[in-house]
Amino acid sequence: MKDENFSIRVDGDICMGAGYCYGSYPRLFGENPDGTSAATGPADPELLDDATKASQICPSGAIEIQDRKD
Ligand code: SF4
Repeated sequence: MKDENFSIRVDGDICMGAGYCYGSYPRLFGENPDGTSAATGPADPELLDDATKASQICPSGAIEIQDRKD
């Protein structure tokens, strides 16, 4: 999966708006008006390491990385 595009899914039901993801990785995440996170969309393969780190720092485990099949 290293060289493929991927997408990120944030589970809005368990995201508690801690802000680590969009604070640290603004190319991958944005902030919703209520403080929860929104993935910015399909991401370049070069950002996979950042996405993986974001999923690891998320305190609620709300970030899921998915293969993207075009
Ligand atoms: S780090 Fe996790 S809990 Fe915090 S805003 Fe991002 S997805 Fe939500």
